Amino acid sequence: MRLPRVLGACVLAAAVLASGSDAARPPVVVLDPGHDEYANLATEPIGPGSSTRKIKDGGGTSGVVTGTPEAVLNLRVALRVRSLLEHAGVRVVTTRTATAGRSIGNIARAQIANRAHAALFLRIHADGSANPATRGTHTLYPAFHRGWTDDIFVASKRAARIVQGEEVRALGFPDDGLQQRPDYTGFNWSNVPAILVEMGFMTNPTEDRRLATAAYQQRAAVGLCRGALRFLGRSPGGCR
Ligand SMILES: [Zn+2]
Repeated sequence: MRLPRVLGACVLAAAVLASGSDAARPPVVVLDPGHDEYANLATEPIGPGSSTRKIKDGGGTSGVVTGTPEAVLNLRVALRVRSLLEHAGVRVVTTRTATAGRSIGNIARAQIANRAHAALFLRIHADGSANPATRGTHTLYPAFHRGWTDDIFVASKRAARIVQGEEVRALGFPDDGLQQRPDYTGFNWSNVPAILVEMGFMTNPTEDRRLATAAYQQRAAVGLCRGALRFLGRSPGGCR
């Protein structure tokens, strides 16, 4: 539809004003490097008001060749993403900055994102499988659940699609696509768009060896940064 000239000018002025205030208050991305040094086997409800409970954190996987704990890899990548995003003018909050304690659990992680009014809650993980041949990158997002995720479903799915594309391009691992999850506590408690990226499989020798290198950790970080910036409507060229 063609806007009348005067209305078009008003819309344009409003857009300029909006981008001006965005520049004054940059968006916040909450980075959530999965797990911690120790698992947390206490349970918590999988969503607000739910009688279904899951353990807070089973502890994650580890590298089949390198022995790297997943929590360590997740944090290394997250700290690289933080510096890339901050360099691009995005404010960053992280759910942890060391791998040195008992995992806080997934409600607590979501609450950090909620309190920060995050534009994106970006959860960083690597996967494990009993089958060492299983490999590739995939991204999880919340399933639709009225009262829990109805307000974040569409944006989360869009973020998942964008970030998955950038992460696959950056890492060059197989594209295992997107997966909707109704049972992820950290999604169901989130009031802000939330995704969880499984960068690769640490139980696959090739992906474990690669993800253990600084070069691949940087690739993973650039992919996540580019995806986050594109989701925020910013140029991904800022991820340097
Ligand atoms: Zn994990």
